[in-house]
Amino acid sequence: MSLLVRGAHKVDAAGEVAGFWMLVDGDRIVATGSEADHAGPDGDGVVHRTVGGDAPAGSTGDALGLVGAPSASPLRGGALPAADATVDLRGARLTPGLVDLHVHGAGGASYDGDAAELERGLAVHRAHGTTRSLVSLVANPLPRLRRSLETIAALRERDPLVLGAHLEGPFLSPGRKGAHVEGFLAEPTREAVETLLSAAPGVVRQVTLAPELPGALDAVRLFVEAGVVVAVGHTQADHALTAAAFDRGATMMTHAFNTMAGIGHREPGPVVAAITDERVTLELILDGTHVHPEVAAILFAAAPGRVALVTDAMAAAGSDDGDYLLGDLAVTVSGGVALLTGTDTIAGSTLTQDAALRVALGRARLSPVAAVTALTLTPARALGLAAGAASAAGAAGSAGAAGSAGLPAGGAGPRADAAPALGLLAPGHAADAVAWTDDWHVARVWAAGREIETAAR
Ligand SMILES: [Zn+2]
Repeated sequence: MSLLVRGAHKVDAAGEVAGFWMLVDGDRIVATGSEADHAGPDGDGVVHRTVGGDAPAGSTGDALGLVGAPSASPLRGGALPAADATVDLRGARLTPGLVDLHVHGAGGASYDGDAAELERGLAVHRAHGTTRSLVSLVANPLPRLRRSLETIAALRERDPLVLGAHLEGPFLSPGRKGAHVEGFLAEPTREAVETLLSAAPGVVRQVTLAPELPGALDAVRLFVEAGVVVAVGHTQADHALTAAAFDRGATMMTHAFNTMAGIGHREPGPVVAAITDERVTLELILDGTHVHPEVAAILFAAAPGRVALVTDAMAAAGSDDGDYLLGDLAVTVSGGVALLTGTDTIAGSTLTQDAALRVALGRARLSPVAAVTALTLTPARALGLAAGAASAAGAAGSAGAAGSAGLPAGGAGPRADAAPALGLLAPGHAADAVAWTDDWHVARVWAAGREIETAAR
């Protein structure tokens, strides 16, 4: 079944294109183009209109743009490809599906729970435009983490939108534990690392480590050799030690600024080590609470194309204020801010990625291209899932990681070789896309070529 999406105002890391169309076959984009290129002087006259938002009464179906025609009619000067179904977005913005590297749950569901809970949480984020994500686990005893990894591995087998697991714990500094249970923190011994890596081969894609822990720098190499992206975070490391971790192969910083020292003019700290290292991607929680938007703006200016907006969302995302659990810890959510109950320690966020995009465009003053990049190509590239990343991911991974997109070979079957790239609306990429209203709320979502139920629909 092929699908033609036309009449879009495309925004992705490659730029903005009016009159954009893309042809989808199965789970991927096979061709793209612009009607504006062919339509002569009228080509500029793309009508920008809200999709699904303020359609005149009686024309809802039309405003949503679903035209059931078996093929599109040719345009002056250029023909649109034929398709089984055509969607006309009538000038609405279209971006790649959003990619979240760090997320713990939503809709009352926690990713530390069973498969049903995981699916419930993922559905909430998908309706907010997050088509692919890692599944982040808080610190827990190793046997419990192994069980979670097995659950995620089984889920990933039937749902390719799940990219794998992010072990946020247990290798964190007790002094910067944030909302992780201190008694569950552990040192990254070879034995502990291998216990987690062997739980479900290939399922761990990212791990957060405090480099000051005994054995941590050796653990960085063990993880990297297994094809796992290592992120520095929940750490008391200074600038020099953080830089040393990057030299050992760490390529990410977990929620920059949060649970680590900030930037001082005499003590640059870990964030500066990440900013000045071109190999490193910085996660940022842009909810207006975790990091001031003015500081976020500085970070984007200092590390262009290397800031990945993550949610770090816990179960209350997409849900109401009230009492929740993050792992075993009680969390109270008030005004959308999640705190460990009875403290002023922030315990994850209630963010969804579409909301982060609005903060980026608003209070952090990013351009649409820069903001969208931080939610799409940058996180995809950080995981080795962007186009052209295969050699880098292949070099990092040894026996454990293989395949054109750097996906682990273990148990992944044909998907390992066939997985489309993520992060752009371009041929050869996954057919993951979000259509937006004029005020940047989610109108429609497609993932792997299939439309997903959203609140707006
Ligand atoms: Zn954290």
